[in-house]
Amino acid sequence: MAKKASSSTKMTYYFGKTKTEGNGKKKELLGGKGANLAEMTSIGLPVPPGFTITTEVCDLYYKNKKKLPAGLIEGVGKNIKLLEKELGKKFGDTKAPLLLSVRSGAAVSMPGMMNTILNLGLNDQAVVGLANETGNERFAYDAYRRLINMYGDVVCGVAHELFEHAFDKIKKKYRAKEDNDVPTEGMVELCEAYKRVFKRHYGKPFPQEPIKQLELAIEAVFSSWMQNRAVKYRQVENIVGLLGTAVNVQAMVFGNMGDDSGTGVAFTRDPSTGKNKFYGEFLINAQGEDVVAGIRTPQPVEKMAKWNKKVYDQLLKIKDKLEKHYRDVQDIEFTIEKGKLFMLQTRSGKRTGAAAVKIACDMVKEKLITDKEAVLRIPASDLTQLLLPSFSPAGKKSAKVLTRGLPASPGAAFGKLAFTAAEVVERTHAGEKVLLVRKETNPEDIEGMHSAAGILTSTGGMTSHAAVVARGWGRCCVAGAGEIHIDAKGRKIKIGGKTFTHKDVLSIDGSTGEVMVGEVATHIPKLSDDFSTVMSWTDKYGKMGVRTNADTPEDAKRAREFGAQGIGLCRTEHMFFEGDRIMAMREMILAENKTDRKLALKKLLPVQRKDFIGIFTAMKGLPVTIRLLDPPLHEFLPHDDKSQAEMASRMGVKRATVKNRVAALHEMNPMLGHRGCRLAVTYPEILDMQVQAITEAAITCKQKKIDAQAEIMIPLVGTARELELLGNRVREVIARTKLDKKFKGKLEILVGTMIEIPRAALTADQVGQHADFFSFGTNDLTQMTFGYSRDDINTFLPDYLNEEILPRDPFESLDTTGVGQLVTMGVEKGRLAKKDLKCGICGEHGGDPDSIQFCHQAGLDYVSCSPYRVPIARLAAAQAALSNGA
Ligand code: PEP
Ligand code: MG
Repeated sequence: MAKKASSSTKMTYYFGKTKTEGNGKKKELLGGKGANLAEMTSIGLPVPPGFTITTEVCDLYYKNKKKLPAGLIEGVGKNIKLLEKELGKKFGDTKAPLLLSVRSGAAVSMPGMMNTILNLGLNDQAVVGLANETGNERFAYDAYRRLINMYGDVVCGVAHELFEHAFDKIKKKYRAKEDNDVPTEGMVELCEAYKRVFKRHYGKPFPQEPIKQLELAIEAVFSSWMQNRAVKYRQVENIVGLLGTAVNVQAMVFGNMGDDSGTGVAFTRDPSTGKNKFYGEFLINAQGEDVVAGIRTPQPVEKMAKWNKKVYDQLLKIKDKLEKHYRDVQDIEFTIEKGKLFMLQTRSGKRTGAAAVKIACDMVKEKLITDKEAVLRIPASDLTQLLLPSFSPAGKKSAKVLTRGLPASPGAAFGKLAFTAAEVVERTHAGEKVLLVRKETNPEDIEGMHSAAGILTSTGGMTSHAAVVARGWGRCCVAGAGEIHIDAKGRKIKIGGKTFTHKDVLSIDGSTGEVMVGEVATHIPKLSDDFSTVMSWTDKYGKMGVRTNADTPEDAKRAREFGAQGIGLCRTEHMFFEGDRIMAMREMILAENKTDRKLALKKLLPVQRKDFIGIFTAMKGLPVTIRLLDPPLHEFLPHDDKSQAEMASRMGVKRATVKNRVAALHEMNPMLGHRGCRLAVTYPEILDMQVQAITEAAITCKQKKIDAQAEIMIPLVGTARELELLGNRVREVIARTKLDKKFKGKLEILVGTMIEIPRAALTADQVGQHADFFSFGTNDLTQMTFGYSRDDINTFLPDYLNEEILPRDPFESLDTTGVGQLVTMGVEKGRLAKKDLKCGICGEHGGDPDSIQFCHQAGLDYVSCSPYRVPIARLAAAQAALSNGA
């Protein structure tokens, strides 16, 4: 017996002239599509009536071992009665049959990932009714064959190709080139052939009872929530915590009833650039799926004015009404049935990062939204797209343009050609940069599209699957490049007589649609005034500071330009790899006693000092947190025989000396080994050299009137005593260096620690007594809290994500439930020791918007991230402050 929903569970919500039970706010329950259909109906827009089955029912369906809850079909029946009454039609009728569409719709849009069934309610009798009612027999049988095909494919698992074969036979018989050339009698025959295909492969005849059709279709939509591509899409998009999909059952309207009918999709503003221009496409005599699937290339929406001015004007009015009502850009779907306009969907339009910034600024100027709303509305991570390289003018000048497609999603991409999604995934994984080249893409390709450097299609328009999905991700895409002939099997394409294979590199420009030979040079784009406006708002509302992780003056300078307020982590080890420095470093490591080690360190001192002067100079008075040496020493030595021999001969030592030292430094678990502050305990002279170099650099800067603000950070502290011992030594070296340099001016250097070992967080009240600041090293903290190796997690992470053991990669987005507790505790306990203890974060999470939201709540003073993420972090910090009531 199916589990019954509790008596309070309302399973269906009607929308129509009779009544409208839902509204736009009920997205969690009705899905985005259902909520907005209700909303559009209630503001008086022409929406075909229908009803939505809630996401709670989907949840019950899965809890019920994939059975519809008792009472649902009864409720559905009642809604059908209402629909019949409102429209004066009857489900399965032989005179005026009510036909329905059944569509999925989760709270978050998942375009094309789940199932849709159209023309439901047709059977051997109703098709006659439809023919009589419309006076168009061909149309009626065309609708019927589409139902059998779609229903067979989506509900009963009969492969689409089997229907295609049957269609090809009929086309041959009637010498028809296109589907549209098949005459009425051919369509009637086709329906019979389709029914035979259905029966042969499903084992039962095509169901003739409309309510049965509907019941199975509802189940099929619910099942599609867990189908592979939908699950993958949710993973890629980090969509978690939803109950399931809603099901929208709605009266059909037809855009394929002749040349006075059509269908289209549009955005109220340009989703690529953000320009305030109605932007979309439509197809005459077609059904909605034809536009989205990219099978026929549609016309720009403004051409509608010539085709049917009245309808176009009505659509423009609706567009304005929708934007004002939702106060945001809308992505709409509409159908015109015999000259009458119907709205089938509205939702917030996916846009590129550049468009998001422009639209937010324009809408503030238009007084449609406030600057606070504008800040909250721009997805912080989408700013990456504005900061990434585009093709340089010089590169473009010398580039050879092969052909042009539509500029579907801006950006610059180049790569070798790959012809299937699986190939893209495999080759990208192997370290290649590839472009996915397809006639058109479909939802099955999602993983490959996400892995590809860029996407190039030969058919489809600006709202084709490839275009919409790519734009959502900020992935570069050129669509509908019709001159490209793709031979996927032969792994080659032909453009104007020239052949390119999977070994050739092409470049695509998603802002112009150009397809070019080879790798075209790129450059960093200039940021727009709108971008600066948004950044000024983030300063107005953000509470946390944003610093950067940088080890070179160039990175430091770039980060400053992006608005970094200091360096939160300067990893000194990177400085030892450049040029000849590595030799001095190796000498130091090979030294057999303290005296020799000190001699080698003496060589490193001036180069370190120079590095720090460069960084202090670039940061012009902003704080610079310098971390003392962290990695285990063996990382600086070569491990293979050949390189060891080379090193020995360059250094004039025996091969065996190098080999023995490498062997002596070998550790079973180097990440938990002799590294971080443990190095300084064993080799304090390394600490001495680094602190001396920092202090001397600061003094030199001060003498040149450059206000160096050095902060020295001790890594991998786990006990208060480690920090006490080493902190005191650092302070002593600073004092001694000042004396040696006879420096009498003001020079305060803070001494703090990283909190990256769980024990340090647990005992932060003790550790805090010896620290001027804490910086949470959440890379190591995550590694040690979970016990996952940060370098090897990919061996099992995909399974953990598939099984939903983890919602996301914990090294990318902070595990707020577990690791987060240690951060919160660290801050609280640290501030018990020192009331105003400055706390920041310098792990990779410092650039992740969700983690930044958490850092704000944990009371951190700043986050630190890589230079290119600084604007993202500034925006995310402002969003965190605003969403927590600033
Ligand atoms: C950390 O562990 O979070 C950190 C910033 O240090 P590293 O990544 O260099 O270990
Ligand atoms: Mg670390």
